[in-house]
Amino acid sequence: MYVILGAGLSGLSCSYHLKHENCQLFEQHSYAGGHIYSEQHRGFTWDEGPHVSFTKSDYVRALFDEGIEVLKYPVYPVNYYQGTWIDHPAQTNLYVLPEPLKQACVSDFLLVRNNGGDSDFAPKNYQEWLEFAFGETFANTFPRAYTKKYWTTEPANLTTDWVGSRVYFPEVEDVVQGAQGPLTKATHYISSVYYPAKGGYFSFATKLAAGANVQYGKKLSHISFAEREVRFADGTKVQYEKLINTIPLPVLIKNSDAPEDIKQAAERLSCSSVLILNIAANHPTQRANQWLYVYDEDKHSTRINFTELLSPNNGPAGKTGIQVEVYFSKYKPLIENFDDIASKVIDELVEMQLLQSKDSVESIEKKWLDWANVIFDNQRQGALDKVLNWLSTQGLDRESDDLASTTDWVKKFETNPTPSNATVFLAGRFAQWNYYWTDDCVLRGKYIGAVWAGRD
Ligand SMILES: Cc1cc2nc3c(=O)[nH]c(=O)nc-3n(C[C@H](O)[C@H](O)[C@H](O)COP(=O)(O)OP(=O)(O)OC[C@H]3O[C@@H](n4cnc5c(N)ncnc54)[C@H](O)[C@@H]3O)c2cc1C
Repeated sequence: MYVILGAGLSGLSCSYHLKHENCQLFEQHSYAGGHIYSEQHRGFTWDEGPHVSFTKSDYVRALFDEGIEVLKYPVYPVNYYQGTWIDHPAQTNLYVLPEPLKQACVSDFLLVRNNGGDSDFAPKNYQEWLEFAFGETFANTFPRAYTKKYWTTEPANLTTDWVGSRVYFPEVEDVVQGAQGPLTKATHYISSVYYPAKGGYFSFATKLAAGANVQYGKKLSHISFAEREVRFADGTKVQYEKLINTIPLPVLIKNSDAPEDIKQAAERLSCSSVLILNIAANHPTQRANQWLYVYDEDKHSTRINFTELLSPNNGPAGKTGIQVEVYFSKYKPLIENFDDIASKVIDELVEMQLLQSKDSVESIEKKWLDWANVIFDNQRQGALDKVLNWLSTQGLDRESDDLASTTDWVKKFETNPTPSNATVFLAGRFAQWNYYWTDDCVLRGKYIGAVWAGRD
């Protein structure tokens, strides 16, 4: 039997790609979906943080879209900085900035580029990457400030292997022209997105979830790799022939028969947590941007989205559902209570004119997610390597790209996955400890299905 720990998207995809045959999913919650779960409250549909699909995979697109109505639309993210709204990405839309900040951003940028910006310079950390890409003033005013809020640590503490196309590396003429006026071309890595017309992002898992054999209320309490036995908090247990783990790697290792040094390595894996505030207000959306980034370091609000702009069916007509993310981690511990944070966030929303007034608020829901973003700090690769090496003595096959921040799926499938004797697989963002989006989670399931069942 295939025992699959966790019924988030990765678990569902693994089960689907094994044709659900002999697959048993064990999920701690009373629902499937994990981070793509969508909730309905008081006429609003809320995802766990803004989720949109921008996959380039036709395979995933077809799986997500099957049997449901899907919306496709252009997106216009925007940035907020001390009272100014800057189109996204800010580095190519500097024209709205006040002087002398604008001039300093442009001249610092030109300084690095004129000093051979495209030479062999290899930044040692994300701070160096930012200064190399944008020049000192822009780097420190915008992405450094945002990094401290979103990644919860200084960019100097982050590696650069995760950056890829996620942060736009601008052309010189785009920055220069963008400092004079709006560019005619889009420079954000996402220009249009897909989103289910009804039911929130979870509707994309409709096809994958149909037929999955999920047992709910099954929180892992201990796993013995030696005995191939999983125990749950409700006192039940199960033996596995083959195990697919999709729950966070630190949780799996902490509750296992791993030796102490491996447990310590797993503890060195850093992740952010997020407080999500779902705020319903009695007036229409105040901006046309589906989501926005807040750079001000004195504000809790980090990323904000409007659920009714993801799909008009996500909220009652004439009302707005504002979702605010506030991030924490061991680098930025939670020291305030949720009510105090919510109260400050409401003030911030009024100041940014996203809420007409405090009195417009009809309800606030607070949701805490322990696991939000894997932090690509300097400890990640060494700690992960150590944990994976130990797991490879327990039935896991090491993969050549298993320390990478994401997977090149074309390359991975080109090598034609061959049947494997592995008895343990890791699947998903927190199990593989990387930067997977939802399409990666689906393709990971496809890959494991191909390896184990010889199916493609
Ligand atoms: C705020 C935010 C915004 C995002 N936006 C996007 C986006 O716009 N587009 C995109 O493609 N991706 C986005 N992502 C990424 C996406 O959510 C993830 O890649 C994906 O949902 C991860 O799925 P998973 O199955 O690997 O993990 P999870 O969703 O975490 O699933 C793991 C499952 O295991 C269960 N579990 C955990 N511990 C235990 C235990 N001890 N016992 C039993 N079960 C347990 C959990 O309850 C969960 O159901 C976003 C992520 C976040 C946090």
